[in-house]
Amino acid sequence: MLRMKTECEQCRAKLARKDVAYICSFECTYCKSCSEELHFVCKNCQGALVLRPPRLIEPFKVPAAELKNSFFS
Ligand SMILES: [Zn+2]
Ligand SMILES: [Zn+2]
Repeated sequence: MLRMKTECEQCRAKLARKDVAYICSFECTYCKSCSEELHFVCKNCQGALVLRPPRLIEPFKVPAAELKNSFFS
């Protein structure tokens, strides 16, 4: 699962999960304007930046073991 970073690697702009953001394969995260400024190349790893899929709901914060138990009890 992607770690959803909440701010831009370059300008520290806040990025909500549903905001447009760009990520490289190492999950460096950039806002739209910085991505354009960087020509969609990550400044940390030179990887290509791609549009991050928006995630609109909170992932479950239940540990896997607990989740399993509740499924089978
Ligand atoms: Zn930015
Ligand atoms: Zn990167």
